[in-house]
Amino acid sequence: MAAQLLQGGPIAVAIKEELNREVERLTAAGVSLCLAAVQVGQNPASAVYVRQQQRNCEQLGIHYQLHELEADISPDALADCLGKLGANPGITGIILQLPLPEGMDTRRMQAVIDPTKDVEGVSPANAGWVVYGRPRLAPCTALAVVELIGSTGIDLYGKNVTVVGHSDIVGKPVGLLLLDKFATVSICHIGTAERGELADYVGRAEVLVVAVGKPGVIKGAWVRQGAMVVDVGINRVGDKIVGDVEFEAAQERAAYITPVPGGVGPLTVTMLMKNTIEAAKWQRE
Ligand code: NAD
Repeated sequence: MAAQLLQGGPIAVAIKEELNREVERLTAAGVSLCLAAVQVGQNPASAVYVRQQQRNCEQLGIHYQLHELEADISPDALADCLGKLGANPGITGIILQLPLPEGMDTRRMQAVIDPTKDVEGVSPANAGWVVYGRPRLAPCTALAVVELIGSTGIDLYGKNVTVVGHSDIVGKPVGLLLLDKFATVSICHIGTAERGELADYVGRAEVLVVAVGKPGVIKGAWVRQGAMVVDVGINRVGDKIVGDVEFEAAQERAAYITPVPGGVGPLTVTMLMKNTIEAAKWQRE
């Protein structure tokens, strides 16, 4: 039997209704939300993300500022810019668009972002809160994955979860957030694949989350019968966007599967909006 599609769009609509009410409450309390995005140089992928951010902020009545900096800006000047945004009481959220130009130390810059304004959850303090099991502002894509899984009503206690990919913004935080729901989590990566063990880990997963960035890296035949498959990958193949999992073959075995596009993607920017509101509330504590 073909799997049920896990679509992000309808969940995003429901969450945005709640966010609208939250913005109204904050506005009534005299809080004005302003998200500042810092873009260094030009990048087509982040240009798409910037437009999404602008549109979503507009829909919710959140101010949006785009700070476009030259690609050859010095690390000290970029750190200074991020520091000033952190100190500015009129700014309630900060996004540093990635990737940064070659040679710029991304982690150093992320560490400069005021944790209470770090709406993408990339500062060391917010990563630490995730490790502590008390997430404040966690990475948006990881939150989107957890939200999608939760929408099925699954009880994760003791379940085998395999996460493929160990990035700071997806694989690691997804693993930690699901661990805190008492799932038994395995996090796989290139080393697992090169040892020839990826199929084993995928095959035991009752919930499979994949964030690699390679089309078809997960074979449909590896997927456990009745599994939940969350495909975070976004890959352009010809004129199509596809995920990391062989969709048709996986759909035959899984109980739930996210389409790409239309699965995790629409929820990620919604989680960014949610974090923007949470950040403003945190600053008032
Ligand atoms: P990344 O590019 O930082 O890291 C890739 C990960 O995949 C690493 O852990 C690496 O070890 C692992 N890997 C590489 N080859 C592998 C293989 N053959 N087998 C197993 N593991 C392998 O990861 P990222 O930034 O999390 O991005 C992953 C994908 O998710 C990309 O396609 C990206 O575009 C997409 N993404 C989507 C969203 C969204 O909102 N839907 C958000 C962020 C990233």
